[in-house]
Amino acid sequence: MTNYFRANIEAMAGYIPSEQPKPNTQIIKLNSNENPYPPSPAAMFVLRNFNGEWLRRYPNPFAQEFRLATSKVLGVPSDWIIVGNGSDEILNIVIRACAEPGRQIVYPVPTYVLYHTLSQIQDADITEISYSEDYRLPLKELVAANGAVTFIASPNSPSGHVVPADDLRELATKLSGVLVIDEAYVDFAEENALGLVTEYENVIAIRTLSKGYSLAGLRLGFGVANPKLLSGLYKVKDSYNIDAIACAVGAAAMTDQAYKNACAAKVKASRTKLATALKQQLGFHVWDSQTNFLLVKPKEGNAEHLYQKLKEQNILVRYFKQPGLDDKLRITVGTDEQNQTLVEALINLKIAN
Ligand SMILES: *Cc1c(COP(=O)(O)O)cnc(C)c1O
Repeated sequence: MTNYFRANIEAMAGYIPSEQPKPNTQIIKLNSNENPYPPSPAAMFVLRNFNGEWLRRYPNPFAQEFRLATSKVLGVPSDWIIVGNGSDEILNIVIRACAEPGRQIVYPVPTYVLYHTLSQIQDADITEISYSEDYRLPLKELVAANGAVTFIASPNSPSGHVVPADDLRELATKLSGVLVIDEAYVDFAEENALGLVTEYENVIAIRTLSKGYSLAGLRLGFGVANPKLLSGLYKVKDSYNIDAIACAVGAAAMTDQAYKNACAAKVKASRTKLATALKQQLGFHVWDSQTNFLLVKPKEGNAEHLYQKLKEQNILVRYFKQPGLDDKLRITVGTDEQNQTLVEALINLKIAN
């Protein structure tokens, strides 16, 4: 047998992305937390009028146009921002810069599975600490583990809850390593942790244009942190990680806050309606969510069966076959019409059962 790979790569499973059917197939896709609304018209205008001359040259290594747009919107200096090929790349850069065998990566579970995959690739030591049943942060254990990197998704996936600001502040104060606050769903939440970044130099807040801005296909995310922390991350980043198209289109989308906020408001209103329908018409347990998805537990405990039956009807939701989640479904909030189709399909399945 030839050993092409490092032992940790040979041993690991690899990340499995959610199912991605071809565009324009008749599928109601509620499995990847994409936004049901199109990207900003201002962003699409930039895309349509993009000058080919800018493709002939290498792009700006800091995605400066996007950084400036983001700096204006967030009210932080542009040199406090690092831009990534999706926020996944920022997560990867943090791990590559800070972790190695013998250094701990720490996070509460269940959460975004990519933290685990990226840590395995780096061969870092991994400490996973379970959330309580009601998703209270295991604060004492996280502090005691004192990771080289600690990941907290807030709002968290797949639970949908926001980690209380006091808990995040306590972590920022007590941890000697880097605290990553993954705010992928912040556009659907009532609070955020950006303020901690200016107070604590070990904190980085990470955001994305994939969810709130309807641009998952563009691959654009960013981190906000003290330039002292970013200086190490910039050594690890590929020079030209953001292509010229993503930079220009992303800058226009970021500038069009009114459009993003209007879409988020629609999603939040639909989230309330969908939660009510699932509770009242189907008896599901539905966790409170500050995201564009709902974690739900069907009454009869047949989550996997429902996932399969919905898939047969071309409705995709997310099922995680892992302890603590295998009796639940994660359902992305779609348009009211899509959500209604889902609820009707579930009602029919219940009657058929
Ligand atoms: C979707 C998601 C991301 C990845 O976002 P990209 O910018 O598309 O890479 C990161 N973190 C969490 C928790 C997510 O759900």
